[in-house]
Amino acid sequence: MNILTDNARLDILSMSLEELTDKMLGLGEKSFRASQIYEWLHQKRVREFSEMTNLSLALRNKLSNEFYIEKLSCVRNLKSSLDETEKFLFELSDGNHIETVLMSYEHGDSLCVSTQVGCKMGCRFCASTIAGFKRSLKPSEILLQLYEAERISGRKVSSIVLMGIGEPLDNFDNVVRFLELLSSEKGTNMSLRHVSLSTCGLVDKIYELAELNLGLTLSISLHATTDEKRSALMPVNKRYNISELMKACRDYFATTGRRISFEYSLIDGTNDTMEDAKALAKLVSGMPSHINVIPINKIKERDYHSSRTAAEGFCKKLQGLGVNATVRRTLGADIDAACGQLRREYEI
Ligand code: SAH
Repeated sequence: MNILTDNARLDILSMSLEELTDKMLGLGEKSFRASQIYEWLHQKRVREFSEMTNLSLALRNKLSNEFYIEKLSCVRNLKSSLDETEKFLFELSDGNHIETVLMSYEHGDSLCVSTQVGCKMGCRFCASTIAGFKRSLKPSEILLQLYEAERISGRKVSSIVLMGIGEPLDNFDNVVRFLELLSSEKGTNMSLRHVSLSTCGLVDKIYELAELNLGLTLSISLHATTDEKRSALMPVNKRYNISELMKACRDYFATTGRRISFEYSLIDGTNDTMEDAKALAKLVSGMPSHINVIPINKIKERDYHSSRTAAEGFCKKLQGLGVNATVRRTLGADIDAACGQLRREYEI
């Protein structure tokens, strides 16, 4: 784990119950105290040690000397007037900003969380990467996006997508710890079957994730079917090409039994022909998968376009080729719900 401490104090919200128990024993306390504290933090979700009322004042003081409780403050909360989408701009304790989006689907509310401040990956169409990378988020900062979004909105999140700002597999250890905290019985106890992790294709990390067999859905940002086109859109393709990526996806399915989801953002005149559809069908043939066709979301720095009609047309082509594909619904169109855009406006 990288950034765990604030001077000498430990970031208690990033600690597993096991780590907290060891630490409490080391401080001369009984192990059940760790469970009590963990429940205060992750179930009752208090934000100060002083709110842990079944602990003595002496113990609460001891806790404040050893640990600190990470915080996020919401500096903007935008609500769509078109649908149930809500967007949060959070300020981190070091003054950086991240975005979180709450969306409503038939199966319940879903939260899109950020995993880094900025991004190193350099995808041409993505607003999150334009100003570069600042730092990775700590497990606590990923988790607090859920706690604060639920608290502020009064809504209950039933699924999480790691599709906000950043590349989750470039912050592997902290993301895995976040998943451990999220699914722990004494915490939120969310089944990881309700979590999707989206990656631009860090192949070595896909193999590592498969080994952990966490039960989550892996979502691959594919967006093109030839190395030439994909490398032009996504620099990561020069490091891991399409054939290495697809091999890792097949391995992920073989190890975990989880169907892979592919994101394909359609760009007029770039990746939208019948040849592209045929090449895509060939790439996923024989692999249990689902393709999400998304009309590219226009960002002001780039001249990429698409439309819902084009996405529907491309999706029909795929379906005609026997591919399991749907067009992703556009939510929160009036509040620029696509990731990275609000933070950029705010910081400039
Ligand atoms: N780094 C991860 C997750 C964050 S991006 C990844 O690359 O998957 C979440 C998704 O939004 C990715 O599929 C990404 O390619 C897509 N995306 C980014 N900018 C977009 C835009 N302007 N229009 C449509 N999709 C975009």
